[in-house]
Amino acid sequence: DSSREPVVIIGTGLAGYNLAREFRKLDQLTPLIMITGDDGAFYSKPLLSASLANGKTPQQLASTSAADMARDLNAEILVHTRVSAVDAATRTLTLAPEDGSHQATLRYGKLVFATGAGCRPLPPIAGDGLARLFRVNSLSDYHRFRTALSNRRRVLLIGAGLIGCEFANDLLQAGYQVDLVDPLGWPLATLLPEAAGRDLQQALEQAGARFHGQRKVTALRQHNGGISAELDNGDTLEADIALAALGLQPNTGLAEQAGLAVNRGIAVNRCLQSSDPHIYALGDCAEVDGHLLYFVAPLMQSARALAKTLSGEETPVAYGVMPVAVKTSLRPTTICPPRPGSEGEWQTEASGNGVSAAYRAADGTLLGFALTGDAIARRDSLAAECRPLMD
Ligand code: FAD
Repeated sequence: DSSREPVVIIGTGLAGYNLAREFRKLDQLTPLIMITGDDGAFYSKPLLSASLANGKTPQQLASTSAADMARDLNAEILVHTRVSAVDAATRTLTLAPEDGSHQATLRYGKLVFATGAGCRPLPPIAGDGLARLFRVNSLSDYHRFRTALSNRRRVLLIGAGLIGCEFANDLLQAGYQVDLVDPLGWPLATLLPEAAGRDLQQALEQAGARFHGQRKVTALRQHNGGISAELDNGDTLEADIALAALGLQPNTGLAEQAGLAVNRGIAVNRCLQSSDPHIYALGDCAEVDGHLLYFVAPLMQSARALAKTLSGEETPVAYGVMPVAVKTSLRPTTICPPRPGSEGEWQTEASGNGVSAAYRAADGTLLGFALTGDAIARRDSLAAECRPLMD
C-alpha cells in the first residue's frame, strides 16, 4: 500500500518538529521518519540570542531529547546522520552517519526538506584572529560561544542586524563590554527607518555599547591574549572574542543536487510543494511563492498547512500580517517588514518614549511598520490595518 510509505522529514529544527507534531494530530498511522545532522534535541532557536543574561545553559535550552521526541511523535528519529543525496526518480535517500559507519539508503513516499539556513560566508577578513571569531546558529554553536566567553569581558560583534542586535542586548545585560560594527548606518538598517534605528542605537549605547556604523572589519589579529580588529577607516578595536552575525542563507545544496528548482531558497508553491510532486519544503530553507522568511510565525503556518496536505487534504498556506518582536529588551522593538518589492515610503513619528514608523504606499495603504519603545503598544492596531504578505 503506497499510501503507507513513510513520510520522511530532513531536519529537526522548529520547522521539522512542528510539522511532525501537526501531522501526527491528523495521521497516527503513516510511518514518520526524521533525519538530522545534529543530536535532534528540541530547542527554541530564538532563545539562542536571549539566554546569556539569564544564565541559561545549552543543556537547559535543549528541552526534550530526540528519544523523547521520537516517542511523543511516534516517529523514528535518526540523529547525527546527514542526508548526502536524494534520488527523486527512485524516491531514495542516501544517509551518511556521522561516525562514518556505513552508508544506508531509505525509501520515502513523501519527502520534506526542513533543512534550515546556515550562516552566510564571511567577507574576506585578514589576520590570524579568525579562531576567535564565532557564529551562533545552532545549540552546539551556542555551547562553543558560551564556553569561549567564560572569564572574558569584551566582545566585538560584527553585524547589527536582528541577531546581532539581540546578542548585543543579551551580552550587555550579562555584563559584557560590546563593540558593534556594521557596514550600514544604524542598527537594523534593512528593517528600520533611521529614526527608529537610532532610537535602538541610543538604548544600546546608554547600556554601554559602542556602535561603529558604516564600518567593516578588514582584519582580526591575535593580540594580548585577545584580538585586535582593524576597521576599514584604519581604526582598531580590542576585544577578547568576536561574534559575527552577518545573515543567513538557506541550505539548498541537497535540493539542488536532487534536481529541484531552487531560487534563493528551495522553490515551493503555496502548498509547500517543490518542482517534484513528492517533495515539499518549509522553514528557513524554503522560498514559498517567492517569500523567503527566517521567522517562526511563517514556519508555524506552513507546518499546519503542510500537515493537512500530507494527510490528504491539499491546503495552501496564506501568510497574513506577521509582526516580529525583536528581543532587544533594552528597547523593545517590533518589526513588520513589507512584502518584497513593495513600493512605499516610511512615515515616522516620535511617539512619547519611542518611534512609530509606518511604511505606506502612495495611496496610503499600510504595507509594513516598525515600532520602538512605548510605540510597540500600537502593534495590534497597525497589524489589523496592514496589508497581508499574501493575498
Ligand atoms: P533549523 O533550526 O536551522 O533546522 C535545520 C535542521 O536541518 C537541523 O536539524 C539540521 O541538523 C538539519 N539538516 C540540514 N541539512 C541536513 C542534511 N543534509 N541532513 C540531515 N539534516 C540536515 N525567529 C523569530 O520569529 N523570532 C525570533 O525572535 C528569532 N530569533 C532568532 C535568534 C537567533 C539567534 C536565530 C539564529 C534565529 C532566530 N529566529 C527568530 C529565526 C528562527 O529561529 C528560525 O526561523 C527557525 O528556527 C528555523 O527553523 P528551521 O527548522 O527551518 O531550521
